[in-house]
Amino acid sequence: MQLSVIGCGYLGAVHAAAMASLGHTVVGIDVDAAKVATLSSGKAPIYEPGLNEILQAGLDSGNLSFSTDYADAASAEVHFIGVGTPQRKDGAGADLTYVDAAIGDLLPHATAGSLVVGKSTVPVGTAERLAGVVRPAGLRLAWNPEFLREGFAVQDTVAPDRLVYGVGGDAADDDVATLDAVYASILERDTPRLVTDYATAELVKVAANSFLATKISFINAMAEIAEVTGADVTQLADAIGHDVRIGRKFLNAGVGFGGGCLPKDIRAFTARAEELGRGESVAFLKQVDEINLRRRQRLVDLVVDSFDGPVFGRRVAVLGLAFKPDSDDIRDSPALDVAVRLKGLGAEVVSYDPQAMETARRAHPQLTYADSLEEALTDAEAVAVVTEWKQFKELDPAATAELVARPVVFDGRNVLDPAAWRQAGWTYTGMGR
Ligand code: NAD
Repeated sequence: MQLSVIGCGYLGAVHAAAMASLGHTVVGIDVDAAKVATLSSGKAPIYEPGLNEILQAGLDSGNLSFSTDYADAASAEVHFIGVGTPQRKDGAGADLTYVDAAIGDLLPHATAGSLVVGKSTVPVGTAERLAGVVRPAGLRLAWNPEFLREGFAVQDTVAPDRLVYGVGGDAADDDVATLDAVYASILERDTPRLVTDYATAELVKVAANSFLATKISFINAMAEIAEVTGADVTQLADAIGHDVRIGRKFLNAGVGFGGGCLPKDIRAFTARAEELGRGESVAFLKQVDEINLRRRQRLVDLVVDSFDGPVFGRRVAVLGLAFKPDSDDIRDSPALDVAVRLKGLGAEVVSYDPQAMETARRAHPQLTYADSLEEALTDAEAVAVVTEWKQFKELDPAATAELVARPVVFDGRNVLDPAAWRQAGWTYTGMGR
């Protein structure tokens, strides 16, 4: 099939390349000319495992191209909308200007009868409103929320754990058939596929992210209690996680969640529920957000308190900048936030991340970035592990002790072995352990 993907960021670049890898002919459209040039040269503008390979293969096969010109999307039968829906600058709600602009710019070029498929995460009610714009122009609209995890985005796009189609109006059956054709090879593997109305599809996405955020903040709240009682939140998570109704996943206490989705999605959901007169139904999400933000400050406080006197001028190695491992995404990253807060207190912060140095440097040029993990650790008076990259988890405590000026480590992700680090002479502090 001929497809277009409007918006080629973390979601769209992967979606475009992945759809080409499934045999479709795909054009990716983005307003960012530099990004389009990078993608067209076969280089992923983001770090995402496996993306470079499918990008290059798509370009080589002639199935994949990128453009800044919406006219190049004209012949597509299906147009996926993957532009950003960030938090509004003036409030908690989602900024829909990019979605509105993308649809507005697409309509004059799109062929009558083609299907516009929203993948961006939007407040409930958005698809119904947009259907009122798309249908009079002779096009159809479906909402197909995206559940990919950064770090696993390629795998999650070609082999999702479920597909959700939000459809409405007279052409709903046709819309389902069109999406089934796009995803035919995925559906052949008995991937669960749920057909819903627009509102349900929109809510599925924010409900899923709200649940995940709540699970993380739940265990972080337990970490706060563990800290004043001497309990170990990691053991607690192991013990409650054996209950299949609870499960162990997403129960890792630490500096909390971040990224371009969870924080802004729970805030946008809260704002939308308030607009709908149901603010009380999701009022708990404000606490989920507050617990999450407190954990960053908690780590900063632990580092500061470890010094006899002010942290000013003390050298702190901050290991990690990305909001999660296997990504270069620093949007709302707890790791970067810890570095910025410590720097704000006058600490001599030296940061290192295997992939997010460039994205972090662009956003925070005032920070000091080490060229290597070893350089970040050298002469450090405190070490904070804030993103659970494999390289950090596998650090040898004895060899690392040789590099630093003071063997004091803060395990912001509870991924180090406290006994091994203490045995090598370190003062180890985890989060709620
Ligand atoms: P992003 O900021 O990385 O990408 C958005 C892209 O859209 C950018 O490249 C931008 O230049 C482009 N763009 C903006 N306006 C445009 C326009 N009018 N026409 C064409 N292109 C335009 O954002 P993202 O992380 O890819 O997220 C996109 C959407 O997908 C959001 O709604 C997000 O919530 C949702 N989502 C993201 C993920 C994820 O893991 N990143 C997962 C699921 C859902």
